Amino acid sequence: MSQAAEETRIGPLVFLPGPNKGKYPHCHSLYVEGDKILIDPASDRERLKRLKDEKGVDEVWLTHWHEDHFAHLDLFEDALLSIHALDEPPLGDIETFMDWYGMDPDRDKSLRESWKPLMLEQFHFIPRKPHRLFSGNEELALPSCGKVRVIAAPGHTPGHCAFYFEDFSLLCTADYDLTPFGPWYGDPGSSMEDTICSVTALSQIGAKWVMTCHETGLFENPPDRIWTDYTLVIQRREEALLTFLATGPKTMQEIVEQWIVYKKRREPIEFYSWGEKATMKKHLEALMKQDRVRKIDGRYALK
Ligand SMILES: [Zn+2]
Repeated sequence: MSQAAEETRIGPLVFLPGPNKGKYPHCHSLYVEGDKILIDPASDRERLKRLKDEKGVDEVWLTHWHEDHFAHLDLFEDALLSIHALDEPPLGDIETFMDWYGMDPDRDKSLRESWKPLMLEQFHFIPRKPHRLFSGNEELALPSCGKVRVIAAPGHTPGHCAFYFEDFSLLCTADYDLTPFGPWYGDPGSSMEDTICSVTALSQIGAKWVMTCHETGLFENPPDRIWTDYTLVIQRREEALLTFLATGPKTMQEIVEQWIVYKKRREPIEFYSWGEKATMKKHLEALMKQDRVRKIDGRYALK
């Protein structure tokens, strides 16, 4: 049973918390009353149904292509859909969706097979063609809440967008969620470097309200420390990896079993070891690019 917290209203902007603190597979949503815009429809399904019936939803904006942000999009088939152009492809095809997570059709066949029913039943995946594609450089004027800046904030995904509601100084940073866990940049299309640039740029806006899509969700005047701690997680992961490699050359499997990202072995193991590997792969690629690590006979070693 879902445990949705209370809504919070800032002018016409209504923060809709997701169940279980908006932790995966849920997220928090934002509703723009008056303009009837819903951002990321993957919070409490029953509440979203009521919202649709009682207040109406004319538009849905997605911050990016991940399933924990569109899980209840099926409720809004008639609404106009917007997403950044770069994040459009996976919404239209379930096979493309899995490709974008780096699941290889041959090598990761069983993972793909276990994801398919989950995508259809839990995340209600229905192929969608967006009506509008953001460039990430828009200034929109909305009747109910004034100027909204659509800000390209790549890294988490290539087309990840933030939304800044200037008149209410509310910045939705989406999956730069300022959690102690830190950012996700493990997809083939994700970028660790872009994540750091985007988080830094968003922190410099100086918004009074920062809304994220998971956990705490709504921050009033977040201190600088919250932003810097968040990007520091990336540095700590790298340090832990380098410390491990300092003990000798390691295979990817040995690196995964260190659980540097998730801190401990978690179930379902197939899902978490895939996430651990995807993230460590990004770090190893960066370290090899910097000529600090090399790969010899299938093992990673310090140079
Ligand atoms: Zn995401």
